Amino acid sequence: MHRTPEKIIRTLAREPGLVFTESMPLPRLTTIGTGGKTRLFVQVETLAALKKLMPELEPPWFVLGAGSNLLVSDREFPGVIIRLGRGFRRLRRTGERLSCGAAVALPRLVAAAVDAGFAGFEELSGIPGTLGGAAAMNAGTHLKQLGDLAHRLWMVDTAGVWQSFSRQALRHDYRSSLAPAAGVVTAMTFLRLAGGDPEAQHQRAALLDGQRKVKHPWRRRTFGSTFKNPPGEVAARLIDRAGLKGTCIGGARVSPVHANFIENTGEATSLDVLELIKHVRSEVQRRFGVSLEPEVRLLGFTERELGELAPLAVSRNENLTAETQHITQKKLRG
Ligand SMILES: Cc1cc2nc3c(=O)[nH]c(=O)nc-3n(C[C@H](O)[C@H](O)[C@H](O)COP(=O)(O)OP(=O)(O)OC[C@H]3O[C@@H](n4cnc5c(N)ncnc54)[C@H](O)[C@@H]3O)c2cc1C
Repeated sequence: MHRTPEKIIRTLAREPGLVFTESMPLPRLTTIGTGGKTRLFVQVETLAALKKLMPELEPPWFVLGAGSNLLVSDREFPGVIIRLGRGFRRLRRTGERLSCGAAVALPRLVAAAVDAGFAGFEELSGIPGTLGGAAAMNAGTHLKQLGDLAHRLWMVDTAGVWQSFSRQALRHDYRSSLAPAAGVVTAMTFLRLAGGDPEAQHQRAALLDGQRKVKHPWRRRTFGSTFKNPPGEVAARLIDRAGLKGTCIGGARVSPVHANFIENTGEATSLDVLELIKHVRSEVQRRFGVSLEPEVRLLGFTERELGELAPLAVSRNENLTAETQHITQKKLRG
């Protein structure tokens, strides 16, 4: 049976490994620094607690990583936002295998993998967020995506069942979840690939980090790329060619440094940012006939606020699964 936030508190308040906060402000939990509160925030410290919690959740619920790819509405999120804690921060190497909890920061995983000569991880250098978020986004660059390196993924599904999927069973689509089922990713394992050389990998990682600091707005509040690259095109190039760099709505600004980034210049609301996303999208559509698809996850907005973006948001449904992403992407393309 599914339960509302109040019922969840009543039922699971004494459950070890679950820490509840009511009316938790979300701006400090997202890198863009905007948004309202969530009715209920649950920090999950153990796998056993996560297995108990999952079957109790009813939509809307959402799992948060480091909030580095997220825009949440300014109004209160009426459901439950969960985040993985201590019990999911283990990173262990045994021989040729690296096991990593979903709450581990991706840069920490990358550093450990490069130190140990696990080839390929250096090309994920500089991407913020957690491993769980990276798995949900198949995070990466034009050089490498997390899915290229994955060996096995562990998750707790919506029925509370802990299961694992081999590399072959994972989805490997561009910026879309690796997980084949709805639920919360808890860990992943990686195997050492041939060709690792820690020294060369360190150098490459440093080079790529340096390039990022030049190409991306550095030390600004952003959520990374706003839009996915459309097939055969680069979203930033289209936005730049449309003359939109520096365009502002309220406190939100298209970065003058990288056209696919939106910056919070200090006082932005989430609605400012959303309006800017819609404006950029409609200008690119008008100028080039290309329909840009948001990479950033949009949470808690009304259909009216979202307009044409409504099929791609996470407002009503639970966490977007690979399945729903696929359906909504098809809907958006008409
Ligand atoms: C400066 C900057 C640069 C960036 N550069 C890149 C880049 O080069 N490449 C790139 O791909 N991204 C980039 N990003 C975006 C972002 O860092 C990645 O998408 C990252 O993987 C998101 O991880 P997160 O933990 O912050 O996830 P969140 O933003 O918290 O959530 C993102 C999605 O992951 C889901 N999620 C989080 N944890 C779990 C879990 N345990 N189980 C299931 N679902 C989960 C959420 O529900 C949500 O749908 C950048 C962001 C910033 C701010």
